[in-house]
Amino acid sequence: MSKIAHYLQEHLNGEVTDSLEARRYFSHDASILQITPSVIVYPASESDVRKTARFCWQLAERGKVLPITARGGGSDTSGAAIGSGIVMAFTAHMNRILALDPKKEFVTVEPGITFGSLLQTLYTHGLFLPPYPASSAYATIGGGLANNSIGEKSVKYGDLAKYVEKLSVVLANGEVIETRPLNKRDLNRKMGLTTLEGNIYRGVDALIEENQALLAEEKSRIRSAHNRAGYNLFDVKTKKGFDLTPLFLGSQGSLGIITEATLQLVRHNPIAELAVLSLGSLAELHDVLPRILDLKPSVCEMINKAAVVQINRLSPNQLKGLLDNPAADIHLIIEFDDSKEGGQKKSLKSLAKIVQRSGGSLMVATSTEDRDRINKFRRSIATLFLENRGDTKAVPAADDVSVPIDSLLDFMHKAIEIYSQAELVPAIWGQAGDGVVRMHPVLDIGRVGDRQRLFRVSDAIYKSALEAGGSISASAGDGRLRAPYLAHVYGPEGSKLMLEAKKIFDPHGILNRGVKTATADEVKAIIRSEYSRPHHEHLPRS
Ligand SMILES: Cc1cc2nc3c(=O)[nH]c(=O)nc-3n(C[C@H](O)[C@H](O)[C@H](O)COP(=O)(O)OP(=O)(O)OC[C@H]3O[C@@H](n4cnc5c(N)ncnc54)[C@H](O)[C@@H]3O)c2cc1C
Repeated sequence: MSKIAHYLQEHLNGEVTDSLEARRYFSHDASILQITPSVIVYPASESDVRKTARFCWQLAERGKVLPITARGGGSDTSGAAIGSGIVMAFTAHMNRILALDPKKEFVTVEPGITFGSLLQTLYTHGLFLPPYPASSAYATIGGGLANNSIGEKSVKYGDLAKYVEKLSVVLANGEVIETRPLNKRDLNRKMGLTTLEGNIYRGVDALIEENQALLAEEKSRIRSAHNRAGYNLFDVKTKKGFDLTPLFLGSQGSLGIITEATLQLVRHNPIAELAVLSLGSLAELHDVLPRILDLKPSVCEMINKAAVVQINRLSPNQLKGLLDNPAADIHLIIEFDDSKEGGQKKSLKSLAKIVQRSGGSLMVATSTEDRDRINKFRRSIATLFLENRGDTKAVPAADDVSVPIDSLLDFMHKAIEIYSQAELVPAIWGQAGDGVVRMHPVLDIGRVGDRQRLFRVSDAIYKSALEAGGSISASAGDGRLRAPYLAHVYGPEGSKLMLEAKKIFDPHGILNRGVKTATADEVKAIIRSEYSRPHHEHLPRS
């Protein structure tokens, strides 16, 4: 055991290891990147997190930076759950529900609990946390908060940030803070502190005050429903008060380590109407989608024809009998979960009228069998990830952008063109209702030519998303993979502002070093020679 691992083991209650096997395992997340950590810490409590951060801070003060990467389920696709120093794995011990108040509809959890197991408990109380990602079986609340996750129901219920009441966060130097909206008096008190917390409040307040015009301009330029690029300096100062919470959400563990979260819950209606709408031409989406969104669906997902063709090619019998019109250009999966009696039926009737006018076809689930059919179609997307011809694999890159609804159709046309020109199959899926577009190029990332192709496609996709008023990071954050594009999102001044925010929280660059700051050359140097997601590959996905 190294000296550092030994020292930490002596001072922490949780386990510490630097075994080659563990380091190898934690050198991957679900991205195409790879970094081998030097030590793995499995914190038993907040005190372990605090002590580890304090230790690294003291080392950094003596000129040696040992970065810390917080880690949940490791399902991050942007290369943000890996790091060269200490990987702090929360799933081992800090995975409990600390308090649940079904009447007031609140839950307090540790970060390592998975969405899946939290939801299981919440459902038994008739409650749920709506923005659960498709990776909920293994993704944790800590990772979800750090990425400000969205899910299939985000079209109606928004992102995870909307449900956060307060957070406990361990800062880079080991101080523990609680974040929540502060009034003027409380803010002044915080700004008077002589601690890192005091520095942060003073620094962030000054940064926002001095750059109000720039922030307002950037905020209005990105019109998509979701934007995880950079740091959310936009929502710190609001009518509710001054709140650091939005900065930690989506920061991917690069500003602080979340050790506890109190979340607001929502009543769960397990009975929902489900339908598949198939449109003969993609162009029809332009008129149809806004009208569907007026009906406030709880799910509005899409799968295009190229994806259906690809699924059929990979698994010839999988879609047999599932779709009324398999040749349609685009299929929308719509759900209504209105709890008012008759509300869902009314929405379905309106949906039928929209479809009638558009000339599309509608398959409404009227039985368990129909419901199973639709869900099976939905889950068929997972088949696209199984693409494996020789050394080529579907890789999670050049995807996951969010564009405004009024630009969705144009963007999809462009994305199809970009993929086709690169001789890649333009299979598209995602959350149409939120303007979230997902595409995975099938490449052999071990080959130089394919890597170059990947970067060319990424450049073009991200450029088009930005031109459409969207964001390059819709659900996963920038991580390392998209960090080189930050300057394209916010321009030189805006991206400098983001780096200044990072410096205020983490002056020594300890927390998830490289995340949101990596250069293109740094990214190229850590691309894996082959791509696989061993521990996620065999789990169900929707
Ligand atoms: C098949 C698949 C489907 C997906 N579907 C979706 C989807 O529908 N919606 C969506 O939003 N995302 C999706 N993702 C991306 C990812 O699963 C989510 O962002 C998820 O919430 C990450 O959780 P995790 O526990 O795996 O986090 P990890 O991958 O372990 O970490 C993610 C980030 O959070 C940081 N982090 C982890 N714990 C903490 C903590 N305690 N404090 C501070 N920072 C922390 C990490 O350092 C890292 O930067 C998908 C990924 C895959 C592979």
